[in-house]
Amino acid sequence: MAALEAIIGLEVHAQMSTKTKMFCACDNDAFGKAPNTTVCPVCMGHPGTLPVPNAEAIVKAIKASLALQCTVNRENHFDRKHYFYPDLPSGFQISQYDFPLASRGVVEYEISDTSGRIEAKKVCRITRLHMENDAGKLSHHGTKTLVDLNRAGTPLMEIVTEPDLRNAEEASAFAQELRRILIAVQASEADMFKGMMRFDASISLREQGTEKLNPRSEIKNLNSFKALEKALQYEEKRLRKLWEETGGPLKGDITVGWMDDEEKTRLLREKESADDYRYFPEPDIPPLVLEEKFVESIRATLPALPGEVKRTYVELGLDDKQATQLINDAHLRSMFDAVHAQTGDAKRASSIVLTQLLGFLNAAEKSVTEGPDAPALLELIAKIDDGTISANAGKSVLEKMVATGANASTIIAKEGMQQISDDSAIDTLVAAAVAANPQAIESYKAGKQAALGAIVGWVMKESKGQANPQKVNEALQRYL
Ligand code: ZN
Ligand code: MN
Repeated sequence: MAALEAIIGLEVHAQMSTKTKMFCACDNDAFGKAPNTTVCPVCMGHPGTLPVPNAEAIVKAIKASLALQCTVNRENHFDRKHYFYPDLPSGFQISQYDFPLASRGVVEYEISDTSGRIEAKKVCRITRLHMENDAGKLSHHGTKTLVDLNRAGTPLMEIVTEPDLRNAEEASAFAQELRRILIAVQASEADMFKGMMRFDASISLREQGTEKLNPRSEIKNLNSFKALEKALQYEEKRLRKLWEETGGPLKGDITVGWMDDEEKTRLLREKESADDYRYFPEPDIPPLVLEEKFVESIRATLPALPGEVKRTYVELGLDDKQATQLINDAHLRSMFDAVHAQTGDAKRASSIVLTQLLGFLNAAEKSVTEGPDAPALLELIAKIDDGTISANAGKSVLEKMVATGANASTIIAKEGMQQISDDSAIDTLVAAAVAANPQAIESYKAGKQAALGAIVGWVMKESKGQANPQKVNEALQRYL
């Protein structure tokens, strides 16, 4: 028997970061709000209400489509997708079936090793992107279940890929690149902790060299990259074992759930087909016709995409890992950009932001947003560059900025860390050093240049690192 290979495709749901919901004017930001407070008769599915598509959501979905190199379709329809569930009060979701917003895109992504070095460049095709509304949320308390409809009606993009992924690692790397793209074009905040991006992963096996797609197992509702990876690894192993036992693939499509704590999948149902949803055109929303001029005007607003931005950082001299750190975190990136703009030195900017600042933040168990902001960092750098403190003292000032939240000048004044550059003060220190180190002076006079280092070291120690080393050297040369 030929070796087996895994064939994986993803369906990704991403919440759009709009002011209001998909079909009503309710606040789309329900985070931290009391249950059932950002609702209205439309998103609660009351009979007789009329949905009105949200223009901002359509624009954001078009941005995402263009960034995924999809063709935005001129003719768009909304359809009702019927299913019964207590978090879906109308009994149907308004989605798009045979006339989706966009089709046939492509995402280029990279596989990196643990040190961030690129191992391979890959491509995953996008089948389609369509718009729909989210359902509410259920929470289970003992024998009772509560319904919160704050999320009901939140605009979603559903992004479906071709089965181009071959293992869990590729699926995760692709999903992370997709997330960066959605964030870059501001279509979604894609905050994983808030459940703004969720994955359904389909996997099947086939003998290498064959083309036929076998029945698949669809793993529902994975909420993190880690869950996506682990679930796919588990399911691939399970399907391989099953193949060994039965001599072939699954007999029909199945739907499984991933149980995070047990790290296993569990059979939910034999998969439903499109027929089961009884799709029909949403009668309350007329077809949406998108003028090419309109789509092109949106294309003109697209920012540089993460892959492109990463290349510019690599060209500045950063390594792959550093460049990836920057494109993964908009806040970090804006800090780096600010420091780079002020100093004109990418190496120095990466040392300050990615080595020192991140190091101190990690040690203090703080996130990037909890540390000093860009203006605070620039003030510190200005103090180093105008000679107020030494570069070395700058490090400990930065550490204190992270720990206390105070700004550089406050810390420098409070700790008396100003660099000593005053000529008479330096002369006094040098005179004392010469008097205290007669042996070093003798060996210097005997021709040992290196002996000077010992004297400079004595001055630095005596001044608690505050003497300007360059001035000390100059004074010493004069003195001798
Ligand atoms: Zn509403
Ligand atoms: Mn969907």
